[in-house]
Amino acid sequence: MTLGILGGGQLARMLCMDARRMGVRTVVWSGTAEAEPTEGVADVLIKKGFEDPDARTQFCEAVDFVTVEFENIPRETLREVEAAVPLYPSARSIEITQHRSREKSFLREHGIPCAPFAFVDSLEMLTSAYAEIGPQCVLKTAAFGYDGKGQVRLTAADQLDDAWVAVDGQPSVLEGFIDFQCEISVLVARGQDGWCAAFPPAENEHRHHILDLTIVPARVSEATLSEAKSIALELVEKLDYRGLLAVEFFVEKSGRVIVNEMAPRPHNSGHFTMNSCVTSQFEQQLRAVCGLPLGSVEMLSACVMLNVLGDMWNPELDTGEIVATDGAKLHLYGKSDPGVRRKMGHINFVGSGDLVHRAKELKGKLLGL
Ligand code: AMP
Repeated sequence: MTLGILGGGQLARMLCMDARRMGVRTVVWSGTAEAEPTEGVADVLIKKGFEDPDARTQFCEAVDFVTVEFENIPRETLREVEAAVPLYPSARSIEITQHRSREKSFLREHGIPCAPFAFVDSLEMLTSAYAEIGPQCVLKTAAFGYDGKGQVRLTAADQLDDAWVAVDGQPSVLEGFIDFQCEISVLVARGQDGWCAAFPPAENEHRHHILDLTIVPARVSEATLSEAKSIALELVEKLDYRGLLAVEFFVEKSGRVIVNEMAPRPHNSGHFTMNSCVTSQFEQQLRAVCGLPLGSVEMLSACVMLNVLGDMWNPELDTGEIVATDGAKLHLYGKSDPGVRRKMGHINFVGSGDLVHRAKELKGKLLGL
């Protein structure tokens, strides 16, 4: 069996590693000339643009199933691949999550709770939407936003002109600001036979708008945990989904959850599964996409995941200190150039004791604090 993967970053790398363990071959079409994380890990690596017709033919002829490691793949490429080979999740599901306005409309149409929002396509539309949703808002570009990119926080009407310039006048979504208690996420899989399985919800803390720590079990009530899981399960049913879906939530002060956004692929906040669950999120993606039965989502240990960004990393770093920490499992992504906010790897802390404290202590050392 051969799995095709669109995208050649760290998520593809970790999927390839689980695939190899399970005897599934991988062909990665990176879409760019840069695919360091999957070098030497994919069985075949095609380092060509997604518009390249020869690359598409080579890719489609070599694989039995296709999945994605990121959502920002041209719609035409998704459609063409899907016409040739089974693509999971479907092009339709990926397209919904590619674009904030399509995603929000889907949530609204299906009665799934989300922050109040309006689509804006001009300064005039922004001004009238702000009058309705303001004063505390976030303006987000509709396409290609992640890790806080393309987002502007608004607190007063006199900031509207600058905010519109900051998003380059691109089609955007104006969202009400949620004064949340915390953020959580749920990774949910739906397989060939329609069976679904949701991993335990993960609590997420951010630094510079990028995920910093994931804490599992999440420190919220049982009612909040089960509400988040049931919304995630409802979403994969309503999308008629196949594959792995990440759903990010805000937990309001009342304990009620509302959906922030979805990703049609493994997620940074699901890395805890690699060392603390019977099945990792990557193995689960592989199982769902390749028509294998889903694996158990049972947790074997509590876990705290610490993201290692470029500002915590240099190529000469002594990994001995990291792995000497009790219960610390190091995962590196094979990237040589540590840009300040680049995701270089992560560390999962498992076992007993105060894992949050252990993770924060090591983070302080890596940051030189
Ligand atoms: P996003 O790219 O939409 O996931 O946003 C990145 C981060 O910005 C989120 O994880 C939140 O911490 C924050 N954020 C985004 N939207 C809102 C909102 N409507 N209210 C409060 N915080 C937000």
